[in-house]
Amino acid sequence: MHMERIKGIAVSPGIIVGRAFLVGTAEQVVPHRTISESEVPGQLERLAKALAGAGAEIAELRERTRVELGEEPAKIFEFHAGLLRDRALVTATERRVRDTRVTAEQAVADQFRVLVDQFNRMGNEVFEQKANDVVDLERRVLGVLMGKQESRLAQLTEEAVVIAHELTPSQAASLVRTKVVAVATDLGGRTGHTSIVARAVGLPAVVGCQRLCGSVEDGDEVIVDGNEGIVIVRPDARTLEEYRRKHERARRSREALRELSGLEAVTKDGVRVQLMGNIEFPHEVEAVLANGGDGVGLYRTEFLWLTSERPPDEEDHFRAYMRAIDLLKGRPLTIRTCDLGADKYTQEQMADPERNPFLGLRSIRHSLAHPAEFKMQLRAILRASAHGPVKTMFPLVSNLMELRQAKLMLADLGEELEDEGVPYDRSMPVGVMIEVPSAALMSRVFAAESSFFSIGTNDLVQYTLAVDRGNERVAHLYQSGHPAVVYLVKSVVRAARSAQIDCSLCGEMAGEPLFSMLLLGMGLRTLSMVPDQIPVIKRVIRSVTMDQCERLARRVGSFDSERQVETALRDELRKLDPDVFGQWVAE
Ligand code: PEP
Ligand code: MG
Repeated sequence: MHMERIKGIAVSPGIIVGRAFLVGTAEQVVPHRTISESEVPGQLERLAKALAGAGAEIAELRERTRVELGEEPAKIFEFHAGLLRDRALVTATERRVRDTRVTAEQAVADQFRVLVDQFNRMGNEVFEQKANDVVDLERRVLGVLMGKQESRLAQLTEEAVVIAHELTPSQAASLVRTKVVAVATDLGGRTGHTSIVARAVGLPAVVGCQRLCGSVEDGDEVIVDGNEGIVIVRPDARTLEEYRRKHERARRSREALRELSGLEAVTKDGVRVQLMGNIEFPHEVEAVLANGGDGVGLYRTEFLWLTSERPPDEEDHFRAYMRAIDLLKGRPLTIRTCDLGADKYTQEQMADPERNPFLGLRSIRHSLAHPAEFKMQLRAILRASAHGPVKTMFPLVSNLMELRQAKLMLADLGEELEDEGVPYDRSMPVGVMIEVPSAALMSRVFAAESSFFSIGTNDLVQYTLAVDRGNERVAHLYQSGHPAVVYLVKSVVRAARSAQIDCSLCGEMAGEPLFSMLLLGMGLRTLSMVPDQIPVIKRVIRSVTMDQCERLARRVGSFDSERQVETALRDELRKLDPDVFGQWVAE
């Protein structure tokens, strides 16, 4: 088996060399490689064992059904058991291993598929049911061959690299408590929430690799290069050595940057910029502070729903907010209300999927459609506001009515707390996330009714350019430097300035050194990002003057293509310090 180098999208930095651990449905992670002649006997033996293992499972299931439900229902397993004994099927599967030189998994998947197609072609209900039974049996045999992954994941004793076709944001979040040290997936884009979670929990990650699952087997050695977006499967000795050196260099440069954490984010001509952290869990405040952040600019509270079996109640919310407030010791906490929907689904939503979830009942729309749950969250936020500098903001607002409705609910709940004698901050700032073009275009109107803006470019880019932020096929069209995006950001900052309200930017763009000078030049003075990125952004800020940034922003404002914008930004960043910013200016 030879080395393979697979290009994906770099979404979370760091270089890891480790053993692959495949996660996903059996169909998704069947190894597609060609085997050598000497591997044939071994694969045939695995196949025989898997068929026997599946047979034993079915016998057990049949017996349990007989005892619990009776002889008749137990008969449904006879077809399964019969198929496993069917010599024609077994021989044909063995022949595939031998003649087409595929793994036992691939042979099972291919041969069982032939049978499924045959039954489906018969075109009547009885045979359709049989086709379903074959699919069921195929999954069982593959399950035996590849092991039951959830329990294996929890029981990992050695560090592993998760390889998956796709991971949901909550699956990614659950990797924190395991031995997983890096992630690589076939699907996904840079600003998809799974990628954001990987960054938040500090797991190097590459997504959008498209054909990774078929090329890797459990236990293969892999290199995940989260800086350049490359996964190398079964690296040779020279490549391993090259990556060990890269890893060491990256570690040293991270350490050097960390030394900046005690210094202020101030430009050479004395303009102070606030650098805040984005968090998904309260404990991440520690990382924000360790990296020298000024507070939390975005707390994605929907993870309270995504990491629990039941929706959070008022006390769950309150406890989480209080934990963050305590850790922040007087620094600001910006709580974003629940942003469920799109790629962040609860179990309940998953059972009843929307046709077009990114344009569906997500974020503030979801909250307004579930007023009881929303009120629990708002009450908890208000109560927490008595204990520290809390702000709240609403995600994905697309029309004024949504903002007014949400603010009205907040006001009613304030009165309720007043009647109950519960303290809260009556002047808690209430802001709007600007992440839909309609809100950006109407930012003057929104500014009149908001205490602050926070620009969510992850969504603003996808809705402005009509490019799904989590889709690897259109990842090249997802351009934060597109002139249309630059134009919208600039007009939102202007609207905020003329209404004299604060304006921050909390999309992933805020943590990308490439955009720092442009954002400062457009007038932004608060940026909120993944905590790990704070030091490098601070480094950019301390290397420039505001005059330089404003000149660049004016120049960029006159460009009409994304390519021109990126080239100009790259050139400027490279000029600052090629050693430090080298990895961010690579084309
Ligand atoms: C955004 O859309 O830019 C944002 C910060 O929110 P999220 O990434 O959680 O959608
Ligand atoms: Mg968003």
